[in-house]
Amino acid sequence: MKSDVLVVGAGPAGLALAAALCEAGLRVEGIAPGGPDAPWPNTYGIWEDELPSAGLAAMLHHRWTDCVTYAADEELRLDRVYGLLDNAQLQTHLLAQCERGAMRWHQQPARAIAHHATHASVTVGDGTALTARVVVDASGHKPVFVQRPPLGEVAFQAAYGVVGTFTQPPVRTGRLVLMDYRSDYLTERERQQEPPTFLYAMDLGGGRYFVEETSLAHAPAAPFDLLKARLQRRLASMGGAVAGVEHEEFCLFPMNLPIPYLDQPVLGYGGAASMVHPASGYQVGAALRNAPVVAHALAQALNKPDASPASIAKAGWDALWPAERLRKHRLYLFGLQTLLSFDEAQLQRFFAAFFRLPRRRWGGYLSNTLTLPEILQSMTGLLFAAPMDVRRGLLGAALRHPSLFVRAATGLG
Ligand SMILES: Cc1cc2nc3c(=O)[nH]c(=O)nc-3n(C[C@H](O)[C@H](O)[C@H](O)COP(=O)(O)OP(=O)(O)OC[C@H]3O[C@@H](n4cnc5c(N)ncnc54)[C@H](O)[C@@H]3O)c2cc1C
Repeated sequence: MKSDVLVVGAGPAGLALAAALCEAGLRVEGIAPGGPDAPWPNTYGIWEDELPSAGLAAMLHHRWTDCVTYAADEELRLDRVYGLLDNAQLQTHLLAQCERGAMRWHQQPARAIAHHATHASVTVGDGTALTARVVVDASGHKPVFVQRPPLGEVAFQAAYGVVGTFTQPPVRTGRLVLMDYRSDYLTERERQQEPPTFLYAMDLGGGRYFVEETSLAHAPAAPFDLLKARLQRRLASMGGAVAGVEHEEFCLFPMNLPIPYLDQPVLGYGGAASMVHPASGYQVGAALRNAPVVAHALAQALNKPDASPASIAKAGWDALWPAERLRKHRLYLFGLQTLLSFDEAQLQRFFAAFFRLPRRRWGGYLSNTLTLPEILQSMTGLLFAAPMDVRRGLLGAALRHPSLFVRAATGLG
């Protein structure tokens, strides 16, 4: 039987969209090689206000109101609530919505796709062909079907983290440290020649902590052995060390992938659709918030009985990447390109100025909730507020990447 939508992948993006499609009353099938309830391997952090409903806000198993960041020798208080998602609870919640829609899952990898006038057909690992009026590829940052323009230089976020116990508390009781860029435990040469990194750390209660040494974005990616060694040295400089490891996290994903072709007959979602925010690397909030919007657009397009897969996918792409969001994305990419050119000291001064912006501005920038003029105003405000070397860096980036800057600022091209 032909379904309305076939979703490939059951990570946070695939599952969020599958649940929303079922809620919209569509006939949905899914492909998840490990099964749709296979545990997600990553630890997902999110600002509480990014969760679009009280039901989803209840999916946090840790919440912090004491949130700080350290940059340029300053402790900056972040007046915003941060949380860690309870992956198992969120999966159960989304899968229950899928079940209510009688969604059927296939425990196979998707291998090949064929496009026809009225449907698409996906061949899975055992050779079975599944047909649907449209296919959504949510298979992650290296998508199985979605096509992108040729990649330029890809910057990666990389991190090495430990959930466990420590000989000394690595962070104050009840506190979340979003970014600790202090680097006095490094040599001058390391500070100047190696990728800048920061500590992301949180108190999980009961003597447990999650600490992660993170390279926000670097091309090529900061190596894991460097991140692990730095984490150990940073802890040692605070007089502590790891005592027991519950979970090790190896984090690596691209930050600046090009937007996929928006006229292709398969729709992407999540990492496959380049939805990672280039300023932060966050994506789960956007995947949860946009799922009902994209599901609604697909449902509308599917109302036309003779709609082609390409026209249905186009409705999804337009809902996911409307013109204003594309323009904002270009500005974020320009911002990221600028950060990539900063040395460690400039980066610290940049973030000190960034987190001194009004909370609505820095929060909106990170969650992609500002309008385009508001982003431009925030960038200009930052330019005036930042110290001279950061200002020179920002202006220098505009001169070094004139086409990126002009396209971002004017929306042309
Ligand atoms: C370690 C780590 C930590 C992160 N932390 C955060 C965070 O705190 N907050 C945040 O917002 N973002 C975070 N991110 C970034 C981003 O949100 C994640 O990468 C997120 O998992 C992307 O979701 P996704 O569903 O698009 O892709 P994925 O989570 O990669 O899921 C894709 C799914 O598709 C399946 N798949 C792959 N190929 C096929 C195929 N051929 N057929 C069928 N299925 C297939 C995979 O098995 C997988 O289940 C983190 C990323 C990493 C790597």
